[in-house]
Amino acid sequence: MRHLSLSVMFVLCFSLTACAEFAGAYAADDGKEIDVVIHPERDDDGRLVPVQKTADEWRAELTDTEFYILREKGTERAFTGRYHDSKEDGVYVCAGCGVPLYDSEAKFDSGTGWPSYYEAIVADHVGENVDRSHGMRRTEIVCACCDGHLGHVFNDGPRPTGKRHCVNGYSLRFVDRDAYEAQKAAAEVKVEVNAESDQAASAE
Ligand SMILES: [Zn+2]
Repeated sequence: MRHLSLSVMFVLCFSLTACAEFAGAYAADDGKEIDVVIHPERDDDGRLVPVQKTADEWRAELTDTEFYILREKGTERAFTGRYHDSKEDGVYVCAGCGVPLYDSEAKFDSGTGWPSYYEAIVADHVGENVDRSHGMRRTEIVCACCDGHLGHVFNDGPRPTGKRHCVNGYSLRFVDRDAYEAQKAAAEVKVEVNAESDQAASAE
């Protein structure tokens, strides 16, 4: 019994350390901090659990421009937003909830003045809605976790998908490759430790 409690304590300590590391906010390129959420919450059927916040809560967390784009389906003027000409190696996460959306490896120069990607980093992190505004029929893309507006997807992109995700830079945050990999490793450790801790609980 004594042995078991010691091992549970060890797992708990280790888990706390891993959590602390995982929860460490990452300072994005403009200095504002954001938590990168490697594994967003999912229900028993594997569907993403929506992040729900009031408009006031979003306003408190986002800049005015981010709020306008993400929560009011705004559009930044071409060539004026973040990242449209960035070629850095890393991952773009949602500026609202921190979920990874696009890898820089899928970014291409579309010449449109908006950051463009041929695919999402995890397929179901980006959701699609039919958008009939402005007398057009377009496909809106949103962050599937917080329902934040990202932009639109078109069928004139490059190989291998032929898709062009045309995204407002202010809906994204860039995390460089090393920082992203460190967050990912910490998240994997946390998942492993949780599994171990479940085993310890069921052994009791
Ligand atoms: Zn989001």
